[in-house]
Amino acid sequence: MEKKNLDWNNLSFSYIPTDYRFVAHCKNGAWDEGALITDPSCTMSECAGVIQYAQTCFEGLKAYTTKDGRIVTFRPDLNAERLISSAERLLIPPVSKEMFLHAVDEVVKANAAWVPPYGTGATLYIRPCLFGSGSVIGVAPAPEYEFRVFCTPVGPYFKGGIKPIRLLLSQYDRAAPHGTGDIKAGLNYAMSLYPGHVAKDMGYSENMYLDAATRTNVEETGGANFLFVTKDGTVVTPKSNTILPSITRRSLVYIAEHYLGLKVEERVVPFSEVKDFAECALCGTAAVISPVGAVDYDGGTLTFPSGMEKMGPVTAKLRETIVGIQEGEIEAPEGWIRTIC
Ligand SMILES: *Cc1c(COP(=O)(O)O)cnc(C)c1O
Repeated sequence: MEKKNLDWNNLSFSYIPTDYRFVAHCKNGAWDEGALITDPSCTMSECAGVIQYAQTCFEGLKAYTTKDGRIVTFRPDLNAERLISSAERLLIPPVSKEMFLHAVDEVVKANAAWVPPYGTGATLYIRPCLFGSGSVIGVAPAPEYEFRVFCTPVGPYFKGGIKPIRLLLSQYDRAAPHGTGDIKAGLNYAMSLYPGHVAKDMGYSENMYLDAATRTNVEETGGANFLFVTKDGTVVTPKSNTILPSITRRSLVYIAEHYLGLKVEERVVPFSEVKDFAECALCGTAAVISPVGAVDYDGGTLTFPSGMEKMGPVTAKLRETIVGIQEGEIEAPEGWIRTIC
């Protein structure tokens, strides 16, 4: 298989249509078996549930080329499970785990020429999505749905790669108590676009959001969970039922405990405690684990001891280990790596 002629070392995080995508349809609550197609466009009613009432959820995962030349995905079973719970919350008929895994495998295999080579720092980002394609005008779940899995080669999410970023403590809320913060729904992103724009306009990479109920505890950013490291080397991650259960975060917690022998606490993290941490990082499929150097808030700046020049030692170790596992250089826990071809 000949790779596409792309500048693999300088890809940005943007959409490049690839050759194939997997599409399945659901009518009367039943999914057809789906197939690979070449058309990157979706055609549907102007009155589709996704267009009118934002009935849509999605996933994001990556395919990696390992050192020994295999193409693999990382814990796709957890993406399948999470898409099912997102779909249920939005009254979308979920696709089975088997169908999800089959679709992802087929799309990656069919687009193997687009999977960035080992050692380039680039990966193939895979975007499964599930949306109401049938018409609804009265508020109701759509009568028909589409499941689509497409992929695009991407470079690092934050420009400048692994340099620490600066965050703004947002005046806005990301997710309501008992709302949809714990599912991967497009609607959570629609309402964070404006706060994200405000932060970027002021020169920040991202927002840090607090819990909406008390505005005292750290939740997450627009699209990544937080990991903190205390001065005595304990990894701390916020516990809340209004944050999205990041697969990267859950994996890093396991790595911290079982590979690095660190203590991990998943608990409420008051913003007032953030000033005491030694390191802060964001984690998610797109960001992997990215160091945070400082957080600005109304009335001050909080700078972590790791500073703005390089990432802290625990963040670096976590990053090295998860990337090593994904690229096949470090032995993975049972079931984490799915070899596609
Ligand atoms: C997708 C997402 C994450 C990261 O989850 P991963 O499974 O690690 O990619 C974090 N926060 C939000 C709001 C997300 O949508």
